[in-house]
Parts: sequence; structure tokens; C-alpha cells
Amino acid sequence: MSIAVIEAEHLFFKYNAMEVLADISFQVLPGDYVGLVGPNGSGKTTLIRSILGIASPVKGRVSLFGKDLFDFQDWYKIGYLPQKLNSFNPNFPATVREVVSLGMVSRKRFPKRLDKADERAIDRALERLGISDIKHTLIGELSGGQQQRVLIARAMVGGPELIILDEPSAALDPETREHFFATLQDLNRNSCVTIILVTHDMGTIGRYANKLLYIDRKILFFGSFDEFCQSENMTALFGGAAQHLICHRHTERFA
Ligand code: ADP
Repeated sequence: MSIAVIEAEHLFFKYNAMEVLADISFQVLPGDYVGLVGPNGSGKTTLIRSILGIASPVKGRVSLFGKDLFDFQDWYKIGYLPQKLNSFNPNFPATVREVVSLGMVSRKRFPKRLDKADERAIDRALERLGISDIKHTLIGELSGGQQQRVLIARAMVGGPELIILDEPSAALDPETREHFFATLQDLNRNSCVTIILVTHDMGTIGRYANKLLYIDRKILFFGSFDEFCQSENMTALFGGAAQHLICHRHTERFA
């Protein structure tokens, strides 16, 4: 059996006295595409931050690629796109290509000079996200949706084995959104990149992901969409119609 990309064991997290995560345990395997969903304030961002060692749970253990989080050093294997994006100042003196290059530089050990292969990888990431034609534009001059694409390219450029994206599609227009999902799907299916996508959009994620992690401080469901489809607990929670709209495992209509 392959080594889990992420293993979380009995995570508990508190902000002061408020319990935000309670006994969260799950495993993400290589090649998984996990939709992490839950209501606003359900602890999704806190869970991601705990997995990445940015937030410290009061109890529990996280392993990344088979290594305890405290011993893990191969951060170049992980691309992370956080939720809060501050719009760039219109005068921010970096072009689209330079911002994407930063994703590559941060992955390199010293000396941090980019070679020809790096430059080609940067151009491929620009192409993949459909932003080659604006590569010399200053980042601050772009719309929110375009800036989002640039930051996604930056998260992907170093060829990570795991990409974690926190609500990345909220700012995207419908066309860019479709393109974005297609890009992720391509990385997942054809380059075997493991993906965790945090999203509000429970109705859509079953079209793309193979697993659902549904939390509200604790885990309400974790498993494949086939398991979700057959779960009596989920029928009780959502009703049959909504359950089968979410699972996207039927050709007949459930509306
Ligand atoms: P989600 O990503 O699902 O919206 P979060 O993990 O951001 O949820 O937040 C979970 C809970 O923790 C919410 O009630 C939120 O208000 C609270 N919270 C988040 N960040 C902080 C913080 N820095 N200090 C105190 N409470 C916080």
C-alpha cells in the first residue's frame, strides 16, 4: 500500500475556549482529489493551516508524505494557495511572469538561480493557466480573476506532488472557472498530482473530485463519492434528492 500524502490523527484545535476542530482523522492517498467542504466557520481553513503547520492543534498528529510534520522538510512537494488574497497595489513593480517565477525560486535550494528548464516550466505554467499573453503586464493592473490565475500558476510552477487550494474559484468568472477546474483535473489525472480543494460549492465538487471530506468542526463524512451516494447518514442529512445531486454519480435527474 502506498504511503499516505496526508495523515491526520485525532486533531483537536481551539481558539481560546472555542473548539474549532474535534477529533479529525483522515488519510489522503497519492492521486486523490479531495473536496473539503463545510459551512462557513466550520474549520476548513483551520484544518488546512494545521496540516501545513501554520496553526498548532492542541492535540493530534499530522504526517506528510510519511513523515511527522515536525520532521517534514520537503516543502517543495506542496503548492498552497491560501484563501485570503490581498489585491496587488496597481503600482506593484512585478510582472505576471515574475510573480509566477517566485513559485519556482522559493522551491530551489541555494543558489536560487533559475536555469533553462526552470524558465521552460514557468512558460508551461503560464500557458496552462492561459496567461501567456499577459506575462509582461504588471500584476496590479489585472482583474481579481486574472490575479487569481497568476497565483494558481505560482502554486503549480514547481511541479508539486500535492496542491492545496482554499476557495480559489470564488473570484473567478464562469469561463475562467471552467478552465481552472479543467487544469486541476488535468494535473490530477495526467500528472498524478494529489489535490485538496476547499470549496463552498458542494453541488459542483462531485463532478471533479474523487473523495469528499465534509466537516463541521468534526467529520460528518469522509469517503468516495460512491460511498457518499450510498450513505444512509447522508440521505438522513440531505434528503435523497440533494444527496444524489451532490454525488454526481447518476445520469438520471434527481431534481
Ligand atoms: P472556514 O474556513 O470553514 O470558514 P475557519 O477555519 O476559518 O472556518 O474558522 C473556524 C472558526 O474559527 C470560525 O468560528 C472562525 O470565526 C474562528 N476563527 C478563525 N480564525 C480565528 C482567529 N484567528 N481567532 C479566533 N477565531 C478564529
